[in-house]
Amino acid sequence: MKPRDKASSSALPENPNRRQFIKQAGTVAAGAALAGEAKLWLPRVQAQEKKKIGYALVGLGGLSTNQIAPALQKTKHCRLAGIVSGTPSKIKAWQDKYQIPSRNCYSYETYDQIANNPEIDVVYIVLPNGMHAEYTIRGARAGKHVLCEKPMANTASDCVAMIQACREADRQLAVGYRCQFEPHHQACMNLAREKTFGELKMIDAGFGFKIGDPNQWRLKGDLAGGGALMDVGIYALQACRYLTGEEPMAITAQESKTDPVKFAEVDESIVWNMQFPSGVLAYCSTTYAFGGINRFHAHCDKGWFSLDPAYSYGGIKGRTSKGEIIEKVEIDQFAAEMDDFAACVLEGRPSRVSGEEGLKDLKVIEAIYTSIRTGKRALVAG
Ligand code: NAD
Repeated sequence: MKPRDKASSSALPENPNRRQFIKQAGTVAAGAALAGEAKLWLPRVQAQEKKKIGYALVGLGGLSTNQIAPALQKTKHCRLAGIVSGTPSKIKAWQDKYQIPSRNCYSYETYDQIANNPEIDVVYIVLPNGMHAEYTIRGARAGKHVLCEKPMANTASDCVAMIQACREADRQLAVGYRCQFEPHHQACMNLAREKTFGELKMIDAGFGFKIGDPNQWRLKGDLAGGGALMDVGIYALQACRYLTGEEPMAITAQESKTDPVKFAEVDESIVWNMQFPSGVLAYCSTTYAFGGINRFHAHCDKGWFSLDPAYSYGGIKGRTSKGEIIEKVEIDQFAAEMDDFAACVLEGRPSRVSGEEGLKDLKVIEAIYTSIRTGKRALVAG
């Protein structure tokens, strides 16, 4: 795929800092999340004393511009050390804004020369999905650790190649699953694990929005790998996997295309069901046709808990059947994700959102597409 540069905008709220989160955390659920966080935090403080991890952003589009670069300024263990872009004017603007020296700026053609740059420890791949595999593999071969945006790649076989390349280069690989670092999500993982509302029985999860510009890469098969499912349905899929702590065994799925021209190459709306080994059933939805689905609801045998909105950059709201609010505690999810990966790099431990985690999602996504294509129940590859 040929690289090019084109910024697009996205505007979801930024947020306060982690210290505020620690002060505010009050409910049982948020407290449980905090206990898990505090354990992770100690080695990070020690890590901070050693070195700040230098990140280079590969692709300076909407997410890099509006979320990741500002989030880097809030991290404790990272710094924006370099950039990779196909647009010289964009490089100049970023250099001016973030004081990035010319020696740390690359085009897609000179990207491999990053191997000679000791100021850059991590490349963060923020390109269209179909380019993740190539730029991850090139980054690893250049000796850099790789944080790759979701979805990890267009196919499970690309994910395997990325994992292999990072393993051969002895570099860490993680996927940008920011929700796994978000306190409401962590609180819900604890509610499920501790069976606070009894056994988890069913999950209803979905994420969608109305997509605009018909010419954008998200609607091109080779660049996007799929439509709403790959882009945002993956959040609902992730939630089901981290709430159950299990891998789904079997899928049934259906697709609807109300605009076959706009969605000629990618899916518009999909609903799918997943069956988990413990007996949990999940029913999920995703769409590019309308906004408003942004939730999960976990039904247990003694009550329920839910997040709605669940997957936004901020403003997440949680409730339970006991009438409790899962207290609103805000962090910058991207800052938390990047600090965690910095700690993984410094401590030489794998990320909880490793390449293997990204591969598991792609295997489920492939089973969803298989079920749609065949009209039958599809098994998830082992
Ligand atoms: P974007 O369109 O705003 O930016 C894409 C960047 O890639 C641009 O700088 C563009 O110029 C560059 N590019 C290089 N070659 C290209 C080509 N051939 N076609 C199109 N663009 C090309 O997209 P984005 O919203 O920043 O998304 C980038 C990645 O981040 C995607 O993988 C997306 O799924 C992911 N993302 C994640 C989140 C999150 O919350 N974790 C949110 C948005 C996007």
